[in-house]
Amino acid sequence: MFTLLCALALFTVAVLWAVRVGARRFRGRRVDHEWLPANLHTAKLLWSEKLFRCGQPVPLVVRIDRAYQGCDGELTLIEFKRRAVCRVHLSDVVELSAQRYVLQTAGHRVSGRAYVVVVLSGGGCPRAIPVELEDPQRIEQRVARLLALREQRIRPNGAVHFAVCRGCGHQEVCPNKVR
Ligand code: SF4
Repeated sequence: MFTLLCALALFTVAVLWAVRVGARRFRGRRVDHEWLPANLHTAKLLWSEKLFRCGQPVPLVVRIDRAYQGCDGELTLIEFKRRAVCRVHLSDVVELSAQRYVLQTAGHRVSGRAYVVVVLSGGGCPRAIPVELEDPQRIEQRVARLLALREQRIRPNGAVHFAVCRGCGHQEVCPNKVR
């Protein structure tokens, strides 16, 4: 009798847990559909917050916020950004392009169009903004320049706007600081 009661209790806990997980997943999917672009509604969420790296032809490590896979196998990348205003920066495009580069190097087919999902810090529904990604040659040029800067073979140009320097940890010593 005692064994039967224990089994029944375990079964009840398992059912409740499954219902809870299912409800959470359903809620998550419904919330995602509020901002997910229409062309990704039928796509499968393949990866979420996953790290990838490549060593050749250039060394890169990227962290993918999300990658969706369409029925044709092509991947579409999504990057979340929490911002005060609904805006996309060049750095977002470079970040997503580097992610695409690493995945392509690993043999994946990745769309040249990705999305930056801006989550407004003041609240409201997130908005997915489409961006066209840079090609692999451009990413290789950027990595080559970064390595040259690190090895002090070339000098930096300086920031394009003083707002960039405002949050920089090198501003006390940097001769290129924009005032
Ligand atoms: S302070 Fe110098 S290193 Fe920092 S962002 Fe400005 S220009 Fe770049």
